[in-house]
Amino acid sequence: MSKKTLLLIHTGGTISMSEDESGSVKPEGENPLMRHTPNLNDYADFFVEAPFTLPSPHITPDHMLELKKIIEKYYLEKGIHGAVITHGTDTLEETAYFLDLTLRLSIPIVVTGAMRSSNEIGADGLYNLISAVRVATSDEAFGKGVLVALNDEIHTAVNVTKTHASNVSTFQSPQYGPIGIVTKNAVLFHHTPKLDLKYSISELSKNVAIIKAYAGMDSRLFSALADLNFDGVIIEALGQGNLPPGTVSGIQDLIEKNIPVVLVSRCFNGIAQDVYGYEGGGRQLKKMGVIFSNGLNGQKARLKLMIGLAQSDDPEYIAAMFK
Ligand code: ASP
Repeated sequence: MSKKTLLLIHTGGTISMSEDESGSVKPEGENPLMRHTPNLNDYADFFVEAPFTLPSPHITPDHMLELKKIIEKYYLEKGIHGAVITHGTDTLEETAYFLDLTLRLSIPIVVTGAMRSSNEIGADGLYNLISAVRVATSDEAFGKGVLVALNDEIHTAVNVTKTHASNVSTFQSPQYGPIGIVTKNAVLFHHTPKLDLKYSISELSKNVAIIKAYAGMDSRLFSALADLNFDGVIIEALGQGNLPPGTVSGIQDLIEKNIPVVLVSRCFNGIAQDVYGYEGGGRQLKKMGVIFSNGLNGQKARLKLMIGLAQSDDPEYIAAMFK
């Protein structure tokens, strides 16, 4: 069988960095992935792009949009069979989810990164890159949405999250697990993901904040958000979707100003729901017009709301996106 052609996009992150004598990890000269990527051509032919080289805390939704456009361009002009993106791990899940929501392509798009920089003992970058390439060339990866491949596991963009500050097994999909694994000889999928709708987007101009709830919280942060011209807010609420009573008036103000308020749970597992009937409980919040998300974490709900607000400010449209 002839080799497939992939687009390989390097964006920076630890996978492209090195450690100096003082132990500081940073980008240094040429991206090492551009220098030595042994055996990659055994798996596929490549177009290589490096539109920016950034630590992932510097990545913005505009960079994500740029990546989407690059992938679409190569798909249309070169007929690529898939794409692999190397990315810093801190915001990797956000880029993966943004692409998952906005790319209307069935070819495999696989995002990867590394927890150890290129010259550290046990560096995982090249290994993860080769795994991601193998996943992207697998026929079974077709039509599964944007995937994240690290540490021998394949996760969906919608469920995966960074769970550990330094461990190489940091990427997990709480509640759901990986949808496949990478072994020495094979790429094996054991689940087929349920795909979300895709949203057309050509620019992003809306500001959405994330606020985490805590015991004894009051309304001041919510009141400040409207003054700061935020267009929407994600609240990482307590437990099953509840807030301290002192926050209710601030949230009411936001809703009256037509600023959508989307609620996720600050718990690592589980889905926010309108169960509790007390002051600040989910029942009251839902009646007020707070939108309960469908299990996304805060950072992914934020991207979805930004994308939604770029399409429409109709509260019903926005609410339907989170069903
Ligand atoms: N801080 C780094 C980044 O996200 C971590 C990594 O790449 O793993 O760019």
